[in-house]
Amino acid sequence: MDGGAQLSGVADGFWGAVGNTPLIRLRRASAATGCEILGKAEFMNPGGSVKDRAALGILKDAVARGQLVPGQPGTIVEGTAGNTGIGIALAANAMGWRSVIVVPETQSREKLDYLRMIGADLRLVAPKPFSDPGNYVHVSKRLAEEMGAVWANQFDNLANAAVHDATTGPEIWDQTDGRIDAFTCACGTGGTLAGIARALKSRDPKVRITLADPDGSALASWVRTGTFKAEGNSITEGIGQAARAPGNLAAARAFIDDAVNVSDAEALTEVFDLQMHEGISVGGSAGLNVAAAIKVARDLGPGHTVVTILCDGAARYQSKLFNPEFLRERGLPVPSWLE
Ligand code: PMP
Repeated sequence: MDGGAQLSGVADGFWGAVGNTPLIRLRRASAATGCEILGKAEFMNPGGSVKDRAALGILKDAVARGQLVPGQPGTIVEGTAGNTGIGIALAANAMGWRSVIVVPETQSREKLDYLRMIGADLRLVAPKPFSDPGNYVHVSKRLAEEMGAVWANQFDNLANAAVHDATTGPEIWDQTDGRIDAFTCACGTGGTLAGIARALKSRDPKVRITLADPDGSALASWVRTGTFKAEGNSITEGIGQAARAPGNLAAARAFIDDAVNVSDAEALTEVFDLQMHEGISVGGSAGLNVAAAIKVARDLGPGHTVVTILCDGAARYQSKLFNPEFLRERGLPVPSWLE
């Protein structure tokens, strides 16, 4: 991992280039609410998403445990909606390791093509609920055991949330000069929300933490009542859980104050508006996060600072979110410039 003598402004390869992303003021959301609504530009990480951080956190932990050695043969297996796989595959390439990435075949073509392009050993599986042994998470665990490889286990491996506690959270605190009233984002593993929540609450317990949830996910219900109730479904990828709180999220339950639900139509409106009016081109979960930040800001009233995560970029979902046919079939708004 050590690239030798380094110049102070130089990042050491992929591993050194993850993080320290800009915090962008979202002009329209801020104007609409009288608050400062700020988006952490995680789509600017070298693998293109917030999950580069989790990938690196987990791999660094595996190195510290002696499970992987830089420059020596090693294999990492992971089940993922795609973005964690991309981060792992690129980080593995930089160290001379192999990556085996298990993804449900319903994830966007762009993410699957990208994984193939960067040399990941891609294993597509049918989408199955977590209770089914064919679910991508269980398949990845079995594969890792069979191969004698490292299983990243992003859902329950606490190195995931820990890296956000150590990096993303403190970056947000520093970038806002500690003047932050609320933070909100959606959860897949919950690593992002959990780690940032812990970092912010330890600096100021008054910072309000709100879990944002798509339709079809039961995490908002879990936060409010402790039970898992979900209705509907969502076209967003990488977020929401129908029937469980992953270990990373469950470990941070005490730091979560409330939850907000966001529909696909609300999320997409933000995706299209951010792109066409502010030049910020992001995917569905980022749109959902911004819609949630607006709801939190309205609840708090004018004069507050609300931060959220811009998880990844729009190009990763061109064939879905920017495909009029796909949107029309689901009764979702079609952007006028694509008609
Ligand atoms: N947005 C996207 C696009 C993702 O791929 C993921 C991770 N699956 C998330 C949000 C959620 O991040 P986390 O796993 O840290 O909850």
